[in-house]
Amino acid sequence: MANSYHAIVIGGGHNGLIAAAYLAKAGARVVVCEARHKTGGAADTSAPWPDLPDVRVTTLSYVMSLMPDTILKDLEMERHGYRVHAVGPYVVPLPDGRVMIEYDDPKQNYEEFAAISKRDADNLEQWEAWMGGIADVLGPVLMTTPPHLGSRRPGDLLDQLRLVVRFRGFDEKKVGDVTRLFTMSVADLLDRFFESDEIKAAMSINGLIGTWAGPREPGTGYVMVHHSIGDVGDGTMGSWGVPEGGMGGVAEVLERSARSFGAEVRTNARVEKVLIRDGVAQGVVLEGGEELHAPIVVTACHPQITFLRQIDRNELPDDFVNDIENWSSRSGTVKVNLALSKLPTIAEKPEWTDFTGGFEIAPSIEQLETSFEEARHGRAASLPFSDGVIPTVLDPSLAPEGIHVMSLFTQWVPYTWASEQPQDELEAYADRVVDAYEQVAPGFKESVIARQVIGPYDMEQEWGLIGGNIFLGELSANQLFHMRPAPGYADYRTPIRGLYQCSSATHGGGGVTGIPAYACVREIRKDRKRRGGRG
Ligand SMILES: Cc1cc2nc3c(=O)[nH]c(=O)nc-3n(C[C@H](O)[C@H](O)[C@H](O)COP(=O)(O)OP(=O)(O)OC[C@H]3O[C@@H](n4cnc5c(N)ncnc54)[C@H](O)[C@@H]3O)c2cc1C
Repeated sequence: MANSYHAIVIGGGHNGLIAAAYLAKAGARVVVCEARHKTGGAADTSAPWPDLPDVRVTTLSYVMSLMPDTILKDLEMERHGYRVHAVGPYVVPLPDGRVMIEYDDPKQNYEEFAAISKRDADNLEQWEAWMGGIADVLGPVLMTTPPHLGSRRPGDLLDQLRLVVRFRGFDEKKVGDVTRLFTMSVADLLDRFFESDEIKAAMSINGLIGTWAGPREPGTGYVMVHHSIGDVGDGTMGSWGVPEGGMGGVAEVLERSARSFGAEVRTNARVEKVLIRDGVAQGVVLEGGEELHAPIVVTACHPQITFLRQIDRNELPDDFVNDIENWSSRSGTVKVNLALSKLPTIAEKPEWTDFTGGFEIAPSIEQLETSFEEARHGRAASLPFSDGVIPTVLDPSLAPEGIHVMSLFTQWVPYTWASEQPQDELEAYADRVVDAYEQVAPGFKESVIARQVIGPYDMEQEWGLIGGNIFLGELSANQLFHMRPAPGYADYRTPIRGLYQCSSATHGGGGVTGIPAYACVREIRKDRKRRGGRG
């Protein structure tokens, strides 16, 4: 039958596409239903300015790193056009007018740090070793299906035991390190190694990206490690890189891969309802009434969309509905995309022309904390922090010669702007971001020939990022591992038999990792094998 499939995937973000590709590769007849006119979700490239049709921006997400080698290889992503350019050194202006450069190379980095604090430069190696040790432990856990912690069913007890065995190498010191990581703020963690506020501010950004929390908030330590994990146990994941064609280029590669294995991809296909009979998934109903049928349905969109809108709450346990209703999904992030007529010239370092890395605005821990506190109290930050990248330096295909695009990831505005966004205040906030770059690089403002500002409301309305959280759910300790997105349902299964979940709001998610989709299909195949069905 035309509308009959083995599996239906709701949402064509990168996770939905990866799930479909793996299912199709395993021989399933699978269809992806994406609400928008194109796939990719938050991995998107667009041409936002009608006057500049050849100028493309990486609309929301902007750098790759967290996708494991296994996925790249299994889905033949290189063959389908996947190319990534490693980012270069980061330019970090300091409040006293000097400019620090953060290199990947430890020797060069030592010299830069030593110019600010000899003690901090001396501690850098110890810090890298500490972070590396933690990331090496936590990395492989990202690829593991979380066990049902607390459950007394024999199979679940066995899974819990396996987890204990996995951590048998931990000594008391390591347990202490991990405890600190999950309970301390990024500022407090950095205090243990560094004295210079400027250095700590620059390094804290990884703990704040996409996070509704200032640098002094407990738990931000984990977010920093999440962004620094380099190995999930199957080979290293590269350092941050700019993908060719922007992040939408990655989505195109994934769509090509999924189609090559036989998956069908439908856009403008918004799912209104999940069809359920006797607690078992039967398929979906699209906007307009068309029904698609399959014994397996995989949701790859925000959990509040699927479990609160697409399913009648009577079909779900009350506890689970309550957990999903309370799923925290704030971040107060604003993305600003610019078209520039020329590259910036830094007043204090006019000879610097390497913009292959980031260009940061993060003057001090105090300033970052103040920015968050302002947003927490309902006002957009007077001096937002910004993680800037100019992808055209590495990938000229995004704009005609002579034009550069700049992606500015900024925080914070009040998270409540996801429901109601004062447009004039949003634009004024973006003005302040541009002004901050102007102060460091005079002439910057004049070089801006076009600007796109995307706030939490736009993210929720256009991309289904409920609450404006960039990870589809905060990476706070209470929403990680066996809690993501709800205790008892972190193994990619749901209370509905045949309905699975694999968005970024499940374990391994938080970024363009593809890990939730990979792990979810692994669980689907396990269930099918157990029931003697198609592998
Ligand atoms: C501003 C910003 C910057 C970021 N920067 C980075 C970065 O540099 N690097 C990084 O790794 N990560 C970054 N992230 C995070 C990353 O982009 C996300 O975590 C990831 O893309 C989420 O992927 P997903 O497939 O789980 O969900 P999504 O990409 O959100 O996909 C879900 C899809 O479901 C669709 N959908 C919603 N409702 C329905 C429906 N009813 N029917 C059918 N389809 C539906 C949506 O349209 C969407 O396409 C950033 C995110 C944002 C917003």
